[in-house]
Amino acid sequence: MPELRAPIGTRDVVAPESARWARLVARFAVTAEAAGYGLVLTPLFEDLAVFQRVGEATDIVRKEMYDFEDKGGRHLALRPEVTASVVRSYIQLRPTLPWKSWYVGPNFRYESPQAGRYRQFYQLGLEAIGSADADLDVEVIGLAWSLYDAMGLRQVGLSINSLGDDVCRPGYRELLLRFLEARRAELCDEHRIRLEDNPLRALDCKKPECMAATVDAPRQLDHLCEPCGAHFARVREGLMALGVPHTVDTRLVRGLDYYTRTTFEFPSGALDSAQNALGGGGRYDGLVEAMGGPPTPGIGFALGIERILLACDAEGVAEAGGGGVDVFVVDLTGGGAARDVTFELRAAGWRADRAFDARSAKAQFKAADRSGARLAVVIGPDEAAAGTVSVKDLRGGAPGGQVTVARAHLGDEVRRRLG
Ligand code: AMP
Repeated sequence: MPELRAPIGTRDVVAPESARWARLVARFAVTAEAAGYGLVLTPLFEDLAVFQRVGEATDIVRKEMYDFEDKGGRHLALRPEVTASVVRSYIQLRPTLPWKSWYVGPNFRYESPQAGRYRQFYQLGLEAIGSADADLDVEVIGLAWSLYDAMGLRQVGLSINSLGDDVCRPGYRELLLRFLEARRAELCDEHRIRLEDNPLRALDCKKPECMAATVDAPRQLDHLCEPCGAHFARVREGLMALGVPHTVDTRLVRGLDYYTRTTFEFPSGALDSAQNALGGGGRYDGLVEAMGGPPTPGIGFALGIERILLACDAEGVAEAGGGGVDVFVVDLTGGGAARDVTFELRAAGWRADRAFDARSAKAQFKAADRSGARLAVVIGPDEAAAGTVSVKDLRGGAPGGQVTVARAHLGDEVRRRLG
């Protein structure tokens, strides 16, 4: 039989790496919940139309979507991102506004896999639906910022831009289109052909042809209407008040069509430029209506879990450490004592593990080393007969060497050693 492997662009995340994921998600959950965001779980697949409505002109929707017909003939797609699902859910459930939610989970895009770019990748994110207040933009951006900061990442930047709204964007779009039409021959193949679909995308293109052709392109920031200009100024003022450093990047248009006003991205100075975005987001004040709901503003972001952990590795911050247990129970009497002692230790709040299958002493101590435990609890025939256990330091640093204590005093001894 041919060897079965995970599909190209996907991978298994196993311990100890998975412990870093769990810690990152837990940290994000605490951060989001503390700011009034509740967990939202939406389906991993939706009607194709949910995603088509949000980004018909984008690569993500046009070229990278995993879409399929189910056995009932429905045309569905694995989600390439979460915002569209959350907005669909809002329209369907109509929770009270503002509706502030956070999420974690996988997304699927048929991209060329490489380091930091997968076909199934995981995002943390949040969405705040129901307010157009610029201070909400500051809250949302500030929450992502505080997560990076709490993780000890120091080489994360923040780029922001404003894309205007349906008052000032159409005029700007025309201006940009006229500018680019005059330079159509200089653009890359894709943007030459698809210029009319969304001329803004040429600004975001990383190909040298497009970058050169758009150097002097008109900038949306110079053509904002008065309310959009005031909104952007208020966002910047808020970020400065919170001490969040940022740079204005007038080329930042981002991948999906639905953004209005504030857009932002968090590049990491520690990663290769092709995969350096640790996250991004923006306002989508027209999206709810475009998807068939009542006019309702919203803003959100998505952060890539794989990218954040890569940045942790690249910056060498502590979050890169593994998980592991506190105590490993080595039982040389057949396993029944290990069964009972690990259960007692866990009930007392310790992370405890053991070996199974009555392995040799050597194999059990090897497993204890691999487990990352600082202490081993050893139960041999002598201890079992005397109603005692031996506690042994595995790492150095826990004071006290090896001692034998009454089984009833094991909890005290572990507490004394591990604090
Ligand atoms: P986007 O919706 O494309 O702005 O993605 C938001 C964040 O998700 C990005 O900033 C990345 O951190 C991450 N991301 C997007 N696509 C991928 C991918 N194919 N593989 C890994 N991470 C990704």
